[in-house]
Formats: sequence, structure tokens, C-alpha cells
Amino acid sequence: MKRWPVICPKGARVIITQGFKPTHDAVDFVIWNDNFSERENYRLSYGSQLVCPVPEAKCVLINDFGTMNPLGNGVDIEWQEDGFYWRLHFWHTVYNELLLNQLVKEGELIGLIGNTGDCRPVPTANEPYEGTHCHMRLSRYHKDAYGFGNIDIESLDPRFYFDILSPYVGNDSNVVVDLQPIYWAWGKLGIISTFDKLMYLLLKIFK
Ligand SMILES: [Zn+2]
Repeated sequence: MKRWPVICPKGARVIITQGFKPTHDAVDFVIWNDNFSERENYRLSYGSQLVCPVPEAKCVLINDFGTMNPLGNGVDIEWQEDGFYWRLHFWHTVYNELLLNQLVKEGELIGLIGNTGDCRPVPTANEPYEGTHCHMRLSRYHKDAYGFGNIDIESLDPRFYFDILSPYVGNDSNVVVDLQPIYWAWGKLGIISTFDKLMYLLLKIFK
């Protein structure tokens, strides 16, 4: 099995908050420390780095809907293996690192876990990290004869392909930058998140 595609700080682990089932063809996961409260764990999960779990993949979809769409921000990566094309979708991200068609190698940053879109409990100005989780969907398919459309698409339970006990290991802090208070305010005003990318880069430089 491959490693779970997130960087987890020491003392914490990855837990599933909603499993794979007919009404949810994905898993929801958070970073969890048993010594923390649920609210503190939302904070811990927020900004955690999603990383590429295969030798090389390509970014095939970027959504920067921010809070205006139930799925929030999201990113898809695709790779080939065992005669299939495979795709991993990450939703509710607060930041997407990749550009469309950009290649990413194992362990490299894809995006940051957040709570954009429809996340429960709903984040507020006072509790901006509530509901943070990653909705991760794994699917595989073939390309049609022209190499464009995807056919025979099937969703798979990521737990059979990624080892939840073996995430990537972080150093002291897994949080890259604290974007949420600013992001939340702008999201409420309906400003779509090209802005968040800019803010992220500025905060990364000046933090
Ligand atoms: Zn979900």
C-alpha cells in the first residue's frame, strides 16, 4: 500500500470521520491528536499539507470556488498504473498549490486542508476552523479511443490503496500558514479565491 497523502505531525494520526459508502463514494479524514479537543483538532487539521502519494502525477482539475460552492476549493491529480488511469480528488482545501497540467512528484505539496464549501459545523468569524476536513475520492478509469473522455469510471475505497497508519511525517508544525481569518472574511464577501493564493504567497513570505 501507498502512504496516506498528508503530512501528519508527530503525536497525531489520521482518522476517518466519514467512510466510503453508496451515498459517499469518498472518505473524509482529519488529523487527530487524542490529547486535543475536537475544536483543537479542527485547528490542527487546518492547513495540513496534502502531498503526492505516487512517483509522479499530473494536476488535471483545479477548483477555486471558495465558499461559494458546496465542494469549496479542490484539486484532482491523475497518474497511470496497472493499465488504468487513477485520479485522486481533494475537496474543501483552503489553498491549491498546483496549476493545471503541472506535474508533481511523491511527497510534494498539492494543497492545504481547509473548510471551504459545505463543511459542518459551519465555520464562523469566531470559530473559523470548524468543520475542517479533507474529502478524498479515489477513482480509476480508461480513456476512450481518442484519449480524451474517461470511460468505465469506478470509485474505490481509498483505504485499500493508501495506508492510513502511514501518512507522511512532518516536523514540529504541519501548518504552513494561518490563512483562515482573512480567507473567511473575503469568502463571505463573495470574492473568489484567486485572492487566497495571493494572500497565501504574501503570508508565506512575511510570516
Ligand atoms: Zn466527504
